[in-house]
Amino acid sequence: MGEAKYRMYITCVATGEEVEYIPAYCSDSWNDDEFLWTEGNNGCDCNRHNYWYRAKDTEPPGRQACGDSAYIIRVTTVTGGLLYEEKISDRTGFG
Ligand SMILES: [Zn+2]
Repeated sequence: MGEAKYRMYITCVATGEEVEYIPAYCSDSWNDDEFLWTEGNNGCDCNRHNYWYRAKDTEPPGRQACGDSAYIIRVTTVTGGLLYEEKISDRTGFG
């Protein structure tokens, strides 16, 4: 396992609490992983819910329904430069 090439933060929309999440799998660049986190499985609330709790070393209390309004992510370089950021308003209207 190499050093993470970017940092990821997941915010629970309901509480506003942001946690740093260390992905189990991380490419050399965010560009290679962005699709997975936007259009792919990790874009879904059900998975982000599990990651958010794991980031806190806690087991998720239950399943989160699929959707795209419960968790938003922010991604930075290792030195804090913004690479990607979601707003709550970006995350509504998904069927
Ligand atoms: Zn889902």
